[in-house]
Amino acid sequence: MTKWLSISDVKEKIVATSAEEVTASYLETIEKSSINGYTCISDGALDAAKMVDKGEVAGPLAGVPIAIKDNISTKGLATTCSSKILEGYVPPYDAHVIERLKAAGAVIIGKTNMDEFAMGTSTESSCYGVTLNPWDHERVPGGSSGGSAAVVAAGEAPISLGSDTGGSVRCPAAFCGVVGLKPTYGAVSRYGLISYANSLEQIGPMATCVEDIAAVMDVIGGYDARDSTSIDKKIDHQAALVDDVKGLKIGVPDEYFGEGVDTGTEKAVWDAINKFEEMGASWEKVSMPNTKYALAAYYTIAMSEASSNLARFDGTRYGPRSDGENWHVMASRTRAENFGKEVQRRILLGTYALSAGYQDKYYLKALQVRTLVKQDFERAFANFDVLMAPTMPLPAFKIGEKVEDPLSQYLTDVNTVPMNLAGVPCISVPCGSSDGLPVGLQIIGNHFDEATLIRTAYSFEKNTDHNKARPGEVA
Ligand code: GLN
Repeated sequence: MTKWLSISDVKEKIVATSAEEVTASYLETIEKSSINGYTCISDGALDAAKMVDKGEVAGPLAGVPIAIKDNISTKGLATTCSSKILEGYVPPYDAHVIERLKAAGAVIIGKTNMDEFAMGTSTESSCYGVTLNPWDHERVPGGSSGGSAAVVAAGEAPISLGSDTGGSVRCPAAFCGVVGLKPTYGAVSRYGLISYANSLEQIGPMATCVEDIAAVMDVIGGYDARDSTSIDKKIDHQAALVDDVKGLKIGVPDEYFGEGVDTGTEKAVWDAINKFEEMGASWEKVSMPNTKYALAAYYTIAMSEASSNLARFDGTRYGPRSDGENWHVMASRTRAENFGKEVQRRILLGTYALSAGYQDKYYLKALQVRTLVKQDFERAFANFDVLMAPTMPLPAFKIGEKVEDPLSQYLTDVNTVPMNLAGVPCISVPCGSSDGLPVGLQIIGNHFDEATLIRTAYSFEKNTDHNKARPGEVA
């Protein structure tokens, strides 16, 4: 059984058996899966594992299977953003992160389900249907990287990659009881990530433990000239795996515990903060007054960028093409027939926010608010090493519960979008449960201070049992 192996477990198994056998056993587990976490499986996975066995490929992740979100380009392997408009699209090149993973010996096992074009918090807007939360099949896995989190939680991959524009790594990590990191903006190249809102998003890893997050970050992080927002700054994530938070100063922003936060969630997060105090850290409340404007600014900016980024999908270059007597008719029919409802809604709203006469009122105003939100973080990090808050205000909701009312789903992003506006790194770690469902503790750090984030999260994991809880078992 391949269930819930960490990278070091996988490596031990490879020594005892072979990389081929390890990959084969994951493929077998995936075959029996009932959660709909993968959109496709790589034909090349077993061959890649065999190359490791033959010693043709070596590296820090040699033979370790990894699942990849369906919006990250993989050469020769379908990449559709879980959208009908990219049906049949097979990228001719690898994203930067995939090149790095392959060079490190990792085995790309398959692509994972997501909200269409990463727009959502539940994976329900995928053209492949929803992924089921391994803890409760009636509930969503979170989104938009729901597949990536669910396959790790279900033992169908030891590690995965997602992308986080406004919470899409942290939300599903919290809902599925795994660890998920959104790196500092610019720390991981976006080359080959199909853009939703490029000024906000970063690729980030998910895993069952912080050690594995650090191992993947050391492979995928770092400068890439092909991403103009990539920043040349060396971060040694694995060196930060130190169990010590003595003297750590934690800020607890009041605004993240506002109305609508579920009581079980609030309790689990406070228990975690008190645990840090026991471990030698100190905490104090901090006010981040512009948090209340973050959600509106985020959605205005994200939809505006989406309306521009998604203009390239028009039936000319990729995917299906509808009939039409001229280009305009063909393109608009292709878009109307192949983009889902949520994507169309966002393109329309984004186009509106950017249109002449409204731009100053909406888009430019949102950019000003973005600066204010960033200043809240600057002020907080002048006094604190990290901030802590619930990742999500509530545990995984029921499938269908928020489909008819998109606004109610947008509102659940209240605690995750400010970090994308500010570009700061953040990690979600399991910290207990509410009504039997996992709760995520969000730890937020200053720009490029992933080291402190990793050390804090690692210490928590070493001194508690929360990350040992698995679906179907009571921790
Ligand atoms: N739920 C947010 C949105 O729909 C965030 C999604 C994401 O991070 N990709 O925009």
